[in-house]
Amino acid sequence: MAMNRIQFQPGLSMPEFFKLFGTEALCAAALESARWPDGFRCPDCGGGVHCILHSSGNKVFQCNACRHQTSLIAGTVFQSTKLPLTIWFLAIYLVSQARTGLSALALKRQLGVSYPTAWLMQHKLMQVMTEREALYTLSGKVQVDDAYLGGEARVGGKVGRGSENKVAFVAAVSLTDEGTIAGQTQPVPGFKLKAIADWASKCLAAATSSILMDWPASAPWHRRAAPLNAQCGWAQTQGCT
Ligand SMILES: [Zn+2]
Repeated sequence: MAMNRIQFQPGLSMPEFFKLFGTEALCAAALESARWPDGFRCPDCGGGVHCILHSSGNKVFQCNACRHQTSLIAGTVFQSTKLPLTIWFLAIYLVSQARTGLSALALKRQLGVSYPTAWLMQHKLMQVMTEREALYTLSGKVQVDDAYLGGEARVGGKVGRGSENKVAFVAAVSLTDEGTIAGQTQPVPGFKLKAIADWASKCLAAATSSILMDWPASAPWHRRAAPLNAQCGWAQTQGCT
C-alpha cells in the first residue's frame, strides 16, 4: 500500500514537545520570537526601543517613544486568558496532532480544565488555524483526505463518523518530490459533490495538476471527484492504495 503522505507527515513527538515547550518560560520565549522575530515592535507606532515592566507577575512591554503598553498575549488567540501558556501550547499540540480531530471532552480530560474551557480553547484554535490556512491556495500535486472533529455522544445521538455532532473537514496538502509544502484543513458541510466542488474552487489553484486520494476507486468520495476533474481541469485523480 502506498504511503498516505498526509498521515505520515513528520510530526513532533511528545518528548520533543515537552523539551521545547514544557515550561512557562520556554512557551513565553517561543511566543515572543514568533510575534517579534526581529525584536519587539510597538503595535501602536512601530518603534523598537522599549522597557519591560512587571505587573501582577506578567511581563509588560512599554514603548519608549509613545509609552504604549502591551503584553505578550495581547492581540493573540491567548488574549485575556487566565490559563498558563503551557496549557495552551499543549492544547495546540493535541489539536494539531489528532488526525481525526479531538473532541472538547478529550481535550478537557487531557488538559485537566473544565469542559466549557476546553470547548472554548478548541474552537478558538480551530478558528485561527482555519483563518491562517485560508491565506493559501494549494496547487501542483495535491493529496486530500477526509477528517472529522468532535463527536461526543449525546443522549439518543449517534457516535463515530455518522454522529450529528461531528464537523466534517477536508485535509489537503501540496506535495513536491521533497515533501509537503503547504497544508489546509477546512470545514465542509459534508462530502457531497457540491460541498467538495465549493471547497476545490476556494482552496485549489488553477495550477493544480493532480489529486491524490487514499481510497480505492470505488469509494464514494473518489467517484465524486471524477466529474470534478472535468469541472476544475485537473489532469488526473489517482487513488494511492
Ligand atoms: Zn510606540
